[in-house]
Amino acid sequence: VSKLRQNFLDYFDHKGHHVHASTPLIPKDDPTLLFTAAGMVPFKPYFLRTKTGTDRATSCQKCFRTTDIDRVGQTLRHLTFFEMLGNFSFGDYFKEDAIHFAWDFLTNKVGLDPKRLHATVFNEDDEAEALWKKMPLKNPIARLGADTNFWAMGATGPCGPCSEIYYDLGPQVGSGPEDFLGGDGDRYLEIWNLVFMQSDRQEDGSLKDLPAKNIDTGMGLDRLSLVAEGKTSPFHTSLLDPLRQEAAQILGVAAPSADIGLGKKESEAAMAYAIISDHLRGSAMLITEGIIPSNVERGYVLRRLIRRAARYGRLLGAKDPFLHKLTPTVLDIFGETYPELGQARSQIEDTLKAEEERFLETLEKGEHELSRLLAKKPKTLAGAEAFKLYDTFGFPLELTRELCAGQGVAIDEEGFSEAQGKAVETARSGWKGSGQTSKAQYEKLIGDGLKSRFVGYEKDVVPTKILALLKDGNIVQELMPGDEGEALLLQSPFYPEGGGQVGDAGQFLDDVEDVQIAEVLDTQKPHPDLIMHRLRALKKLYPTRPLRASIDKEKRRTTAYHHTATHLLNQALQQVLGDGIRQAGSLVAPSRLRFDFTHGKPLSKSELQQIEKIVNQAISDGIPVHAQERAASDIAAFGATTLLGEDYGAQPRFLLIGAGGWEQPKERFSLELCGGTHVANTAEIQSFKIVKESSVASGIRRIEAVAGPALEDLKRREEEASREKLRDLIKDFVITTSKIQSVTGKPYTQLVNDMPDADSAPIAEIQAAITKMQEVDKKVHTELANHKRDKLMEQAKLGQVLLEVGEAKLSVQKFSQVEVQSLRKISDQTKRDLGSGVVFLGAVDNDKLSFVVAVTQDLVDKGVDASKIAKAISVIQKGRGGGRKDFAQGGGPDTDWETLVKTVKDFLS
Ligand SMILES: [Zn+2]
Repeated sequence: VSKLRQNFLDYFDHKGHHVHASTPLIPKDDPTLLFTAAGMVPFKPYFLRTKTGTDRATSCQKCFRTTDIDRVGQTLRHLTFFEMLGNFSFGDYFKEDAIHFAWDFLTNKVGLDPKRLHATVFNEDDEAEALWKKMPLKNPIARLGADTNFWAMGATGPCGPCSEIYYDLGPQVGSGPEDFLGGDGDRYLEIWNLVFMQSDRQEDGSLKDLPAKNIDTGMGLDRLSLVAEGKTSPFHTSLLDPLRQEAAQILGVAAPSADIGLGKKESEAAMAYAIISDHLRGSAMLITEGIIPSNVERGYVLRRLIRRAARYGRLLGAKDPFLHKLTPTVLDIFGETYPELGQARSQIEDTLKAEEERFLETLEKGEHELSRLLAKKPKTLAGAEAFKLYDTFGFPLELTRELCAGQGVAIDEEGFSEAQGKAVETARSGWKGSGQTSKAQYEKLIGDGLKSRFVGYEKDVVPTKILALLKDGNIVQELMPGDEGEALLLQSPFYPEGGGQVGDAGQFLDDVEDVQIAEVLDTQKPHPDLIMHRLRALKKLYPTRPLRASIDKEKRRTTAYHHTATHLLNQALQQVLGDGIRQAGSLVAPSRLRFDFTHGKPLSKSELQQIEKIVNQAISDGIPVHAQERAASDIAAFGATTLLGEDYGAQPRFLLIGAGGWEQPKERFSLELCGGTHVANTAEIQSFKIVKESSVASGIRRIEAVAGPALEDLKRREEEASREKLRDLIKDFVITTSKIQSVTGKPYTQLVNDMPDADSAPIAEIQAAITKMQEVDKKVHTELANHKRDKLMEQAKLGQVLLEVGEAKLSVQKFSQVEVQSLRKISDQTKRDLGSGVVFLGAVDNDKLSFVVAVTQDLVDKGVDASKIAKAISVIQKGRGGGRKDFAQGGGPDTDWETLVKTVKDFLS
């Protein structure tokens, strides 16, 4: 196992650097980043001087890059997970020391050959070049352009020249025109980048000297291991090779020991093993941080890794899930450095196995579908088809792309995005304007400078006026009574659908008289500045008409119960399941709420009870609810719950549920960013109940719940359903028992008389009665089935022909409309009745005759063989027959019955 990591940290420790442990891959304070992608990320506050106290630091930081997933395996440079070694100076040492440390470490500590090392500088950085010249370099210093040797944090802010150190892997690795310092070839590998942060880029593009200059360096551990271990590929170092070897052991296909000079088949295997080793390591690291495969955000990245690795495993011949078997190898390599891996071991194994199993199921269906599509030899695969593969078969686009590329077929990716967009729109049920036409019209409204202001946090009714009207998606100058359309108002108290909360309904009133002029059915926000009211006009409406806009307060109120309850639920889930869960979607309506979140397995009954209890406790505690727009920096300062990938702007609205208010924002029950409408105190919600817990997608659970008066409603509806069910059961029961009575004479009327009254009895009695009825019903049905069989036996007895052949008794009978299975039962019974003898039964169905032959044991002992009889019959019948000595069966075309009976008789005489 690589000691380079520790040697590096020790080296800089001795040079007075503070050694920082790696921070998690999920950046804690920066919700805008999916993953930490560079070693300097955790040190940003020091570079920006918002944090002080350390002048020089060093770290080995876990990093993850999502942009490279598709390229892993195709090049020797791309990896998803990697470890970045770095040394940092915050206004302390600068170029001279940074250059000296780097050269000293590489040549004296790692022992790299100076003849292979190349230093580069930014072409305007004479200072760096002069400093490098003091080192015992063997190669000339290369001056390179800004594309490789100038670094900037953003369009403005800190920036500066870089000095990159390259390692020459030799001409056998690459000798093409792209193999030069800073080129795309594989020969010269950049191993260490020293950034000299010396300037501050101004708005006008000019550079100002930073008052305190910084050093930020980064060296990938995989690349350092590659050169230190004398390899030519990162997949062959002690960091990844053991994974390749173990996978090869499991799959039984050798992993090529080099990546150059391979034949086609070998290079395909090399690529597959490279992908498997990189993706497996990355997956294990992500799972360790609580990420679960899903279709959103980080979960989707993890899903892609596992599925891509699984897919390449299949190309190597894997039939069953195998990725989880590599977990011990990951622990061997990284367990000591990252003890959290060991703690998550079973989670890693379970997650890998479950996801690979799911993938294999869909893969088979998807591959079948794709090969059907490709069989038509298209030049381009239609976007809609690619989306169908994704949507219906869970086939990732990347995979479709790869498989199509293998056959020289392109994918209409624009069409894919379009189909995806459409599906999202369709999924969001209900009104969304009138499609494409109105989208253009909305843009026209914006272009005309029209916009509406939302005033619904403070007011239920406001005087306002109509700015514009739409009908069938087109801007119109009036709506007549009875017309349906959309209205844009100057200001509006109507909450437009957003953040999961449904849009407001209500009415427009005349500006003077108490007369309703329009009924508002729904409110949407097709553009941040447009609140569109979908309405039915009751009086003539026209732009500039003054009116009073008044929301349906009851709908708003019952929706608020559910919205605040959603926040309580989110918090309760974190308390019970851990703060690794993430909201994945929500719906807040007047009658119910729905909350989707990431979690790998179903919730237990006791977990659900705990969650319900926490929410109900928060409700009975009567906690005040506060909403306020505050600076975005408070998100991190207060540790607010945010949605991944949401852009909250500079002044987001905070929703705080806490007795301490803004004085003590950390002593709270919940703090989220939210634009929705809420109750003022949790006590208003009264009660909360979870009605369903289910799965929406793998790794995503859904809780449906009701709160407030809606809960009473729900109870009433459930009660009514129970009463209806009892009525139905009694009705069915009467019908079934009347059949029984007609065949067995058994009366069941007493039971029905004892049943409680379905309309008026207490609900507990109704439920008990339902249980009892269901039991009795089952019994009655069994009885009816038994009775039918008895009846058949009786018939059989009546219809049988009993022959005496020599000393043996032969019972023969031909049935019509009797299932073949029944013949066996009848023959068993008849055999018992005969005591000693042979039974031959036939059943005709259309043109087919099936038969059974049964022989009692005493005759079997005397040499009578049912299977021989059956074979003889089947010969005559031109069908099939066979079985044991005591029982045989067969069948074929319908044949003269007497001839067959005679055949049986011949066997006995
Ligand atoms: Zn909310």
